[in-house]
Amino acid sequence: PFDVLVVGGGPAGAAAAIYAARKGIRTGVAAERFGGQVLDTMGIENFISVAHTEGPKMAAALENHVKEYDVDIMNLQRAEKLVPANAAGGLHEVRMAGGAALKAKTIVLATGARWRQMNVPGEEAYRNKGVAYCPHCDGPLFKGKRVAVIGGGNSGVEAAIDLAGITAHVTLIEFDDRLRADEVLQAKLRSLKNVAIVTSGRTTEVTGDGAKVTGLTYEDRTSGELHEVALEGVFVQIGLLPNTEWLKDAIALSPRGEIEVDARGETSVPGIFAAGDATTVPYKQIVIAMGEGSKAALSAFDHLIRMAPA
Ligand code: FAD
Repeated sequence: PFDVLVVGGGPAGAAAAIYAARKGIRTGVAAERFGGQVLDTMGIENFISVAHTEGPKMAAALENHVKEYDVDIMNLQRAEKLVPANAAGGLHEVRMAGGAALKAKTIVLATGARWRQMNVPGEEAYRNKGVAYCPHCDGPLFKGKRVAVIGGGNSGVEAAIDLAGITAHVTLIEFDDRLRADEVLQAKLRSLKNVAIVTSGRTTEVTGDGAKVTGLTYEDRTSGELHEVALEGVFVQIGLLPNTEWLKDAIALSPRGEIEVDARGETSVPGIFAAGDATTVPYKQIVIAMGEGSKAALSAFDHLIRMAPA
């Protein structure tokens, strides 16, 4: 069995694997797609001490760094079920899609998350060419430009307030007939001069010139009329879905499906830890995922040295 089995090969999983392996303990990483969301990212400008890098470059660097150590990397492996040990000190088991079962004394879950998409024409084609999902990451790219934020929940309204301070103009489009964000956020949003709020708006298309976004079309759901907005950027804020569906019978998840962790990264099951975008830890960012992954691995090591000798 593994001393530490990491599930997920994004920034959190890679950091956990390196920190575990550096303790000289038997470490494995099983990942559906090594690199995670970083593979889908273009420019990265907020990875502290690296002024600019690109997603695929960072993903390759993550994998190469893990390969510096004696880590059993199992890429293209999807975990389907977690079976926690039935007694303290027992082995936990992760069942994989191919039928394999991996056993481990401790586990670090780092399966990340995915942004919910609008699924309208132009969204996929202009992804990273004006269509963005992360205001903390890509907001500064739209300095002085016009953007839309899709979604009037807390994350959409927070994004609109944030972007209003950077960009020339923000159009916030909410599907429902009213915003769903906390009242204090709504009041803040309404106080901003360069923000237009559209409710009962259904985005129907992201338009562009072939190379980049030039506009967006939405339907007024009350009148059925179509409206076009000229802009350079569209931030989609309709939900971040944690990749935790396979864990719901095994460990405690928040109402949003995020893995509940304590300050040491431990889940509701002793010996099972979690890190990164899949957890309740706020602000989904690469540096944060790496810090949390390192922390979870150190906590797993601490758990191991306290286990009764076999
Ligand atoms: P992920 O990167 O999501 O990795 C999850 C890993 O788990 C993957 O290897 C995945 O294949 C694997 N996995 C999932 N389910 C299973 C399963 N059932 N079995 C096995 N493996 C599984 N952050 C920044 O800091 N700066 C940026 O500029 C930036 N730009 C971004 C741009 C885009 C387009 C996107 C989508 C995100 C961006 N982010 C950025 C956010 C950043 O990518 C994430 O916060 C970070 O990747 C989270 O790391 P993670 O390891 O928790 O999860």
